[in-house]
Amino acid sequence: MVTKTTHRKEVDQFMVGLRKRNPYETEFHQAVEEVVEAVMPWYLQHEEYRNERILERVTEPDRIVSFRITWETDTSDIEVNRGWRVQFNHVLGPYKGGLRFHPTVNQSVLKFLGFEQIFKNSLTGLPMGGAKGGSNFDPKGKSDREVMRFCQSFMSELHRHIGEDIDIPAGDIGVGSREISYLFAQYMRMRNRWAGVITGKSLAYGGSEVRREATGYGCVYFCENMLNHFGDSLRNKNVAISGSGNVAIYAAEKALQMGARVITLSDSGGFVHIKNGINEDQLKFVQDLKERRRGRISEFADKYRGVDFHANLRPWDVSCQVAMPCATQNELDAKDAKSLIGNGVIAVSEGANMPLTVEAVHMFADRKVLHAPGKASNAGGVAVSGLEQSQNSIRFSWSREEVDRRLRTIMAEIHQQCILHGAEIGHVDYVTGANVAGFKKVADTMIAYGVL
Ligand code: NDP
Repeated sequence: MVTKTTHRKEVDQFMVGLRKRNPYETEFHQAVEEVVEAVMPWYLQHEEYRNERILERVTEPDRIVSFRITWETDTSDIEVNRGWRVQFNHVLGPYKGGLRFHPTVNQSVLKFLGFEQIFKNSLTGLPMGGAKGGSNFDPKGKSDREVMRFCQSFMSELHRHIGEDIDIPAGDIGVGSREISYLFAQYMRMRNRWAGVITGKSLAYGGSEVRREATGYGCVYFCENMLNHFGDSLRNKNVAISGSGNVAIYAAEKALQMGARVITLSDSGGFVHIKNGINEDQLKFVQDLKERRRGRISEFADKYRGVDFHANLRPWDVSCQVAMPCATQNELDAKDAKSLIGNGVIAVSEGANMPLTVEAVHMFADRKVLHAPGKASNAGGVAVSGLEQSQNSIRFSWSREEVDRRLRTIMAEIHQQCILHGAEIGHVDYVTGANVAGFKKVADTMIAYGVL
């Protein structure tokens, strides 16, 4: 019989060991604790997994590659950055996961992201293992040529460790289509071969329709699935979105198409409040501002009446029924959760990875707010990356409609898996459902492979 106390005791015991083995890696500890807390009651009921020490094995990366990146600025100064690739677990398929370029990147952040990626990729149903990589390089304020030289230097090392059947990186924060093109071109130059070794490529050279939109669209599809399950929908709902990058922009686009009112967007400088909801023209302006001009979200408020900018604040005090955190980790804390709950939020669909602090997760769980964890709700990006690999393998491109149809189906199937493992009377615990479903497939495969 598994009781709440034994469950907590086992989680704490496991986490003591994990913290000791991985000191100072706070983001990694947080990501592991969320998974362990969710799967522990189920894990304790299944001796076969415990005997195989699956938790101890799955929390230890297969390998971590760390390297120096030296590059020259436009003024011929020499800069040095650090790069990593965390190849976490490849029992389900070749390693797959994005590259992040941001000054806050370190080994702990990449281990948390790589760990999450294992279960997210498992949920998609596609044959992909989990990995993540990146650098503490900050692309902000750099010229195109500087970014190009950095990417070339980064790939001069990374190319040894990747391959279409080994490890296939993609984009993430700070790595968009410009960076993917430079990275891919350098891979071709170094290896003298064209291979689908990176996803998120442009359509002209092997990219997939809907890849750019996939994470944001998928996050909205998942949210609609959650609401539909309880007889509701996104139509006429006020939706607060954070971020204004790849995920946020396409979440906003799809939410708008589904009849919702998107009332906020943000960046690291603050958030904009669009009281009547953003319209298509305004969204196009933001898209151009962020994707081409690389400007600040405050410029959006400068241009339009009825749009207020709130410097250095996050959007969670605004009254909304649906919240989609789409910027970065730990961007929504207990205070924000309290405010959202007070304002009547009914659903939270994570576009970003681990955007909620542990306390915020617990508060939404206690209040039975529908809460989709990123490994389920933002899996659309990696799912379409998987479809990009399939198209590269068969040297063919599917239509936009075909890829979007597959994306919708995958998100609906992930939602079903969450229900299978997370259904309660009158509620679905999506955090438990997603974690158990993702974990079980990986664990069963590890057992099938024997002791590795
Ligand atoms: P982008 O670089 O395109 O955009 C990131 C956005 O978040 C920007 O608006 C940025 O603002 C904001 N942001 C970043 N760091 C902070 C911070 N510390 N505080 C406040 N705002 C911040 O990244 P993506 O949209 O690709 O990624 C966003 C999230 O979604 C990440 O958590 C990523 O891991 C996750 N994700 C992305 C996928 C993808 O396909 N791209 C797939 C699955 C998950 P500013 O420009 O001012 O820095």
